[in-house]
Amino acid sequence: MKETGGAGYILYDPSMDERKAERAALMGDLRGGLEREEFRLDYQPFVSAASGAIVGFEALMRWTHPVHGNVPPSEFIALAEETGTIVALGEWGLRTACRFAATWPDRSLSIAVNVSTVQIRHSNLVEVVKQALAESGLEVSRLELEITETAFLAATCESREVLDKLVELGVRLVLDDFGTGYSSLSYLRQFPLDKLKIDRSFTADLPGSQTDVSIVRTIVELGRHLGMTTIAEGVESPAQGDCLRRIGCEEFQGYLFGRPASAAQTLDLLEKASRQ
Ligand code: C2E
Ligand code: CA
Ligand code: CA
Ligand code: CA
Repeated sequence: MKETGGAGYILYDPSMDERKAERAALMGDLRGGLEREEFRLDYQPFVSAASGAIVGFEALMRWTHPVHGNVPPSEFIALAEETGTIVALGEWGLRTACRFAATWPDRSLSIAVNVSTVQIRHSNLVEVVKQALAESGLEVSRLELEITETAFLAATCESREVLDKLVELGVRLVLDDFGTGYSSLSYLRQFPLDKLKIDRSFTADLPGSQTDVSIVRTIVELGRHLGMTTIAEGVESPAQGDCLRRIGCEEFQGYLFGRPASAAQTLDLLEKASRQ
């Protein structure tokens, strides 16, 4: 569908049909790709602001397409949501991440898995989570589910019920990309959240931007008042980290502390750390 933005005109773009065709082809390749094991998870650490110690990892999905190579998750997740393949893909991701985290030498580390709202609405997510925990033996307290705010927009009574059941199980819920959605504050009231993840767009210009310093400080204070942990994403420089630490943000994630890495590299890192 063409988005014109009001009464705007669209000039003929010869590449548009090609892009459409490519999207359709990629959509078709998703499910087969899952069967052909073209997907994998990378893991990025998040650390305690106070000690710098790793406190957990976020699982980030990767797709190596046989022809197109690496397709960015921003692209294929959206396609998978449109086609519904995200239900199977998300279940695979959840089970893979839980199984992996259960092998880590340090049993105190969390594993954070991104969950699409399509999964909340159209799958038996509670059963899937229970099964992933049971088959992996992972302690439920180690599992965090990251949910994005824009996706929350579609929240209904049923979604609320699913989230309540997950919390009852002992799973922790993280509001991802906090600040970028439309109704952030009402979500804080409606959903049983444990953690706020401050979107990278607010941390990118720290410490230089006074506006962003004020925004992030306000989010961290809000989190503290509501008993939620705050984590900043996209921490790339020591100056950003110092600024966030002064503000009182409790956890950091970003290239400064580690890029997303393969399961093998992640296990290697954890085994080295456990021998020290
Ligand atoms: P996200 O959940 O906000 O994940 C953080 C993104 O920021 C990741 O991009 C990560 O690689 C990137 N990142 C981390 N630290 C830094 C940094 O210091 N600087 C910069 N510039 N970027 C950083 P990635 O891996 O491309 O993932 C993009 C998005 O795709 C994710 O955003 C998430 O919304 C979605 N996604 C990834 N894996 C899954 C999944 O398994 N399920 C679902 N539903 N969505 C996923
Ligand atoms: Ca996330
Ligand atoms: Ca983000
Ligand atoms: Ca995020």
